[in-house]
Amino acid sequence: MAVQEILIHPDDRLREIAKPVTFPLSDDTKQIIRDMADTMYDAPGVGLAAPQIGVSLKIAVTDTLWRSDEVRHDPDRPGGTRDLKVWINPEFLWHSDEMATWEEGCLSIPETYADVKRPAAIRLRWFDIDGQQHEKDFDDFQAVALQHEFDHLIGKLFIDYLTPLKRNMITKKMRKLFKE
Ligand SMILES: [Zn+2]
Repeated sequence: MAVQEILIHPDDRLREIAKPVTFPLSDDTKQIIRDMADTMYDAPGVGLAAPQIGVSLKIAVTDTLWRSDEVRHDPDRPGGTRDLKVWINPEFLWHSDEMATWEEGCLSIPETYADVKRPAAIRLRWFDIDGQQHEKDFDDFQAVALQHEFDHLIGKLFIDYLTPLKRNMITKKMRKLFKE
């Protein structure tokens, strides 16, 4: 297990546009993906993008099963309850006009939650760790979680959807809590 340090907003590295991954994956990249999963479960969180551990690559991991309080509060539960997904070079092919509002949080903006409105459904193309391409529609919590994670790959954070006033308040709070 190699839990990595999660970058906390404001950090310039969270604002970079991540680079596409090339296949076959290098051993280094495979290790980064394992570290991302370890870091996400350790946090615990339902998703983590590579830029959050300072790696500028288009990779995210999610486990939306982990969202259930029952699972989250029992990290020693057998692995069968986990649903780790790895998303490489993800791309949105479509999104619904219908919007949905969910309360979001982020491992890079601890102890902060806010309502964010996003398309309720999306169609996605991505690659798995073997370089196989996939295409699928997602809705509900998965659509939200994936949009949140893939925003990280273009240097975007959920607080960017809030008013400038609210965003500045959160940034100040983070500076106070996590920086000297
Ligand atoms: Zn996040």
